[in-house]
Amino acid sequence: MENCIFCKIVAGEIPAEKIYEDNETFAFLDIHPVNPGHTLVIPKHHSFNILDIPPEDWAAVAKTVHKLAKPIHDALGADGINLHMNNREHAGQVVDHPHVHLIPRFKGDGLPHWHGKAYKEGESKIVADKIKAAVQ
Ligand code: 5GP
Ligand code: ZN
Repeated sequence: MENCIFCKIVAGEIPAEKIYEDNETFAFLDIHPVNPGHTLVIPKHHSFNILDIPPEDWAAVAKTVHKLAKPIHDALGADGINLHMNNREHAGQVVDHPHVHLIPRFKGDGLPHWHGKAYKEGESKIVADKIKAAVQ
């Protein structure tokens, strides 16, 4: 895809610190890491995010994420690892090519966790019903 920086990284037109590559996926260090070792796993085939990625590309990404999580965690002596994906602008997506963040975590690294809200009485059933009706 023209003008997609992650497609350009896959094509070798923009340099990146490659971690792993197979026929369907590419993994490289994030240029602005939350912690050293922060890695992005992407499909080689262009799409936008989780909302349009073909299931076979997503399956390949998931397989690579699973393959790399433990090596990243263990090689860096991490105390944990987060998997994270931003989808669409208001969910924090900046690069419009699907990517899963693998973020090694270290005790006291200061990255804040989200804070959950409470459901109102009866609200969780309404929400669950809406989602279930939309699942094909
Ligand atoms: P998003 O907010 O879209 O989930 O995350 C995009 C990520 O891509 C950011 O963490 C950013 O640091 C990383 N990034 C953006 N441009 C480049 C680049 O040219 N090279 C590398 N290695 N990472 C990039
Ligand atoms: Zn792309």
